[in-house]
Amino acid sequence: MSADHPHLAERLIVKPSSKVSLHEADANESHGYTKDTAAKPTLDDLARLTSLQERLFAEQKHPILVVLQGIDTSGKDGTIRHVMSALNPQGCWIAGFGVPTAVESAHDYLWRIHAQTPANGEIVVFNRSHYESVLVVRVHDLVPEAQWRPRFAQINAFEELLAAEGTTIVKFFLHIDRDEQRQRLQARYDDPTKHWKFKMGDLEERKRWDDYTAAYEDVLSRCSTDAAPWYVVPANRKWFRNLAIGEILADRLEALKPEYPVVELPPNLVIA
Ligand code: ADP
Repeated sequence: MSADHPHLAERLIVKPSSKVSLHEADANESHGYTKDTAAKPTLDDLARLTSLQERLFAEQKHPILVVLQGIDTSGKDGTIRHVMSALNPQGCWIAGFGVPTAVESAHDYLWRIHAQTPANGEIVVFNRSHYESVLVVRVHDLVPEAQWRPRFAQINAFEELLAAEGTTIVKFFLHIDRDEQRQRLQARYDDPTKHWKFKMGDLEERKRWDDYTAAYEDVLSRCSTDAAPWYVVPANRKWFRNLAIGEILADRLEALKPEYPVVELPPNLVIA
């Protein structure tokens, strides 16, 4: 943040109960920054994150939950690599949620999620999350609408419970547009070192772009709450995505004012 750049959190937050239209949200938006002018604030925010996390970990008072969602190729993995690299792995980990296993499927959809939520002093990053239960599940008709529709309210109640018990929840939707996804998929296909990321299934998912967009619009419109707000991050430009996520996360941690614990020690101690 600087004088001519107001807090990105205020610009990108989804106000509770507002109606989100992703077609109207420009995935190229960079809020006055250029790649050059974003470079220093991004580094500063990463340094801020490093220092805040150390105090957070020392203090052992606050759990932090970061949720990353976005369509295939939107940059969830890249965000983890660039932004979360500021965090000490001691006290921070990534929980990825893929297709549920047989055991997970035999439980309610929040069972595997709740098992991975952070404890005091920890930062847990969800790479995909409980929201898949109203996204892929809805788009592919994996459960009837009568079952997934009530999940918006259930998810809000679940997050409210976590927040009321002390967890800070920060949810990022990485917003790319359809043409950006085409370019990223093509780049993966063209580069043998990226083939491990290329899945033919992603092309099938791409055909359902409009269905995913509608499902995401519902998620963002119904599940951004005071307890657990969504931020819609324009993510066509990776440097802006990194800047925005670093800044918002650092701001949210700073608001907790984490402090090193004061420890009473005997005076004049000389270690032999
Ligand atoms: P990614 O695509 O994020 O790099 P994976 O290749 O492991 O990671 O893909 C995860 C897949 O798991 C995605 O296609 C996602 O839609 C799917 N998935 C996640 N949660 C669920 C769920 N609750 N039900 C069905 N599929 C899910």
